[in-house]
Amino acid sequence: MSDLTADAVATEHPGAPAGGNPTAPGGGRTVATAVPRSLVDRLATGVTATAEPNVVETVAPLTGERLAGLPQSTPADVEVAFQLARRAQAAWAALPVRRRAAVLLRFHDLLLKRQDEVLDLVQAETGKARLHAFEEVLAVAMAARHYGRAAQGYLKDRRRGGALPVLTHTVEARRPKGVVGHISPWNYPLELCVGDLLPAFVAGNAVVNKPDTQTALTGLWARELLIEAGLPADLWQVVIGDGPVIGPAVVEHADYVSFTGSTRTGREVAQRAAARLVGASLELGGKNAMLVLSDADVDAAAAGAVRACFSSAGQLCISIERLLVHRSVADRFLERFVARTRALRLGGGLAYGADMGSLVSARQLETTTRHVEEAVKAGATVLTGGRARPDLGPYFYEPTVLDGVTPEMAVCAEETFGPVVAVYRFDTEEEAVAAANSTPYGLNSSVWTRDLRRGRAVAARLRTGTVNVNEAYAAAYGSVAAPMGGMGDSGLGRRHGADGILRFTEAQTIATQRLMPIAPSFGLDDKQFAAVMTGGLRALKALRFK
Ligand code: NAD
Repeated sequence: MSDLTADAVATEHPGAPAGGNPTAPGGGRTVATAVPRSLVDRLATGVTATAEPNVVETVAPLTGERLAGLPQSTPADVEVAFQLARRAQAAWAALPVRRRAAVLLRFHDLLLKRQDEVLDLVQAETGKARLHAFEEVLAVAMAARHYGRAAQGYLKDRRRGGALPVLTHTVEARRPKGVVGHISPWNYPLELCVGDLLPAFVAGNAVVNKPDTQTALTGLWARELLIEAGLPADLWQVVIGDGPVIGPAVVEHADYVSFTGSTRTGREVAQRAAARLVGASLELGGKNAMLVLSDADVDAAAAGAVRACFSSAGQLCISIERLLVHRSVADRFLERFVARTRALRLGGGLAYGADMGSLVSARQLETTTRHVEEAVKAGATVLTGGRARPDLGPYFYEPTVLDGVTPEMAVCAEETFGPVVAVYRFDTEEEAVAAANSTPYGLNSSVWTRDLRRGRAVAARLRTGTVNVNEAYAAAYGSVAAPMGGMGDSGLGRRHGADGILRFTEAQTIATQRLMPIAPSFGLDDKQFAAVMTGGLRALKALRFK
């Protein structure tokens, strides 16, 4: 444990040019003052847990000090949560969509107004830099605005061509699934909790949410804010506990499961959902590649690569862990990229100013350290970084660039989920595309070129759910009207856009038959009916009916 306060620990890391980077101001506030016991106690009342629950302690990654004691729910509590949610859902679903959407729009305004409160919580629970915490506010506000404004369009009844033109009146309607079981990880506790839940709510569902215990306060804060914006309190139930203990109970009762986390756990969740014949969307891991083509703006690409690799200290599912650079620009690119990486200010102040914060836990630090040490032992070179920084806080690790990584090294194909990137050189576009597509994952990628048409053509050949041209990840992720998610081992289903809300609905077709049945009638026998229908089918095709 470190005895540092969360204030003013930003520093350049060794290897940076002398002269120093400014220290991030923390406004004199510590984690203890920003997240007082009274706030924790108030938020904890939002957890569905028995009267005498077990209490689990969490730790602030920035400093290693105690953060909160949180009540743990049991599988029986999960059952109670579903009962309460189910009861609240019926009345909520009966409201017109516009009334539900108004809650999201009010939430948007409240979130922007009170963002400092949640920025403190996100930093305290995850250890990330404030700028990276703000990205969560940005993403959630965008989702609130989009679904607040667009939900009516997504959910409205749609006329469809009937079985028989004129005689069959057909409408496709969208019904809420009921109670959604939502299991979320620790790395983006605001966005991957409430950000994903907004479309579920506006579609008329209730939710039982199991956040990661480490970051539960952020979700509980968002729940309070959404209730203030008009959400009925029982509609969003929060249960907290060990994933393998209460996670299966959530899946057991849910009408639909939305899961974000590792591929390993995702497979387990998918199997449980499949056994119950309920749908699931799975947002899983990645080993994302960035391609710097021969005609890239090397300065812009180097700055973009820093954002791509080190946002939230690399604990971002869409962050870049493989940099593929055309040999002709590799030296120029690397010189700039490494210099920018060296100049990053590491810090843990509860204020803007640091460029990168801490890892979240000993587990993340261990994986990061192991990937780098194993690679170095097997012959890789550290271009910058490559070591933990216990002087800053218990889980800090320097942003690290590796060269000479080969396939037998774990860091080559396994997700590190830390501030580590490996650089590879390529000679042809063909080679770069093949290398980018060479892992079982398929989450995000990034292509840098001055020729935008070429960038989009290369993008079309990449097997990832999102591709950013001349941006790291924010262009695609921030395009909330378009789907975002993974191919291959990176998942199933999509958040954002139409997919992101329709997954929380059941399609229902209501077809009304008029004047005559679709069966022999008006004195036609079976054979005559078949002949009339055969003629009818030919006519419909000739008339270009769809
Ligand atoms: P994890 O799979 O260990 O945990 C995720 C959640 O699942 C937690 O709430 C955990 O308590 C719960 N859980 C654990 N075991 C469970 C079980 N048997 N049944 C049900 N729930 C269970 O993942 P993590 O380490 O918390 O998160 C990091 C991973 O998440 C990384 O692989 C990252 O790439 C991925 N991720 C993906 C996205 C995306 O959008 N694709 C976003 C963020 C993180």
